[in-house]
Amino acid sequence: MATHTTRMLIIGSGPAGLSAAIYGARAGMEPIVVQGLQPGGQLTITTDVENYPGFREVIQGPWLMQEMQAQAEHVGTRMMWDTIVDIDIAGGSPFKAIGDSGDEYVGDVLVIATGAQAKWLGVEGEQALSGKGVSACATCDGFFYRGKKVAVIGGGNTAVEEALYLTNHSDDVTLIHRRDELRSEKILQDRLFSNPKISTLWNKAVTRFVAGENGTLNHLELTDTVTGETSTLEVDGAFVAIGHAPSTELFKGKLPMDESGYLLVEPGTPKTSVLGVFACGDVMDHTYRQAITAAGTGCMAALDAERFLAHRDFEKAKASA
Ligand code: NDP
Repeated sequence: MATHTTRMLIIGSGPAGLSAAIYGARAGMEPIVVQGLQPGGQLTITTDVENYPGFREVIQGPWLMQEMQAQAEHVGTRMMWDTIVDIDIAGGSPFKAIGDSGDEYVGDVLVIATGAQAKWLGVEGEQALSGKGVSACATCDGFFYRGKKVAVIGGGNTAVEEALYLTNHSDDVTLIHRRDELRSEKILQDRLFSNPKISTLWNKAVTRFVAGENGTLNHLELTDTVTGETSTLEVDGAFVAIGHAPSTELFKGKLPMDESGYLLVEPGTPKTSVLGVFACGDVMDHTYRQAITAAGTGCMAALDAERFLAHRDFEKAKASA
């Protein structure tokens, strides 16, 4: 078991963590990134990406993350193949974390970029057809369904926003909800119900995603949650929008969170309530959830981390002068 020390300890290796690493390494903080259970984050389970700036052609999510990692390493980041299982935050800087490997990681600043996971229904065909008609992000994948028939599953703000967004690409959007009333805000419901491109299916649970002969999504199997009757709905794309869960189990009782488990930060900054601890990307953002916004807040975390350390070093030098 080894101890790895660094000026900047980053937990998570999606766009937020790797952007923090790129900026942190270039500022001389010699960051360590502990990659976690899904190295590269959510983009590694998507296929085509065409909204990340800088690429004229469609790129692949896993490729983008490999490039980001290579860039982070090129400027001096140490990537660790490990998952943090325990962390001491109350003791303040330096922060000590324990990896699944038994190794210890010690950082003068801590950047939390553990991301979030889309919730899935967990029914047959869902994972097999992920990226082949089934998606959890209309902003990412809606464009691929131009002029096609799509469905959104869920009844919260995300589902309604996704249904409205999809009408930019499709004239035939069906919102499928398991109850007969939506959870989403009234203003969004008003927009939904007044949009002629959207129809709603009430009291329906999707029980199976079924592929056609070409191996992509062909139709959904539905069960009425009141009568138990079964039916099918032909669609080219289905967007599961039943919420996201931030990966914050490790920080319960250690850092303030909202009721959904997202880390709370000082508005407009990545600063948590603990000096020297920063949060960036989807772990603190349930609104935008894009790779580019995660990368942006990762950059902000590194800049604020650098300022924190510079200030602390200056105060230390002054005290000992
Ligand atoms: P929510 O938890 O608000 O809604 C999830 C929806 O999915 C609910 O309608 C729920 O049904 C349904 N659902 C959950 N599990 C299943 C399941 N297994 N099968 C079928 N349906 C299921 O999640 P959101 O992502 O919509 O929102 C998360 C938070 O983010 C909320 O606080 C929301 O207000 C906020 N948000 C705000 C936005 C804004 O202000 N513009 C935009 C997007 C999100 P049921 O209602 O029956 O429980």
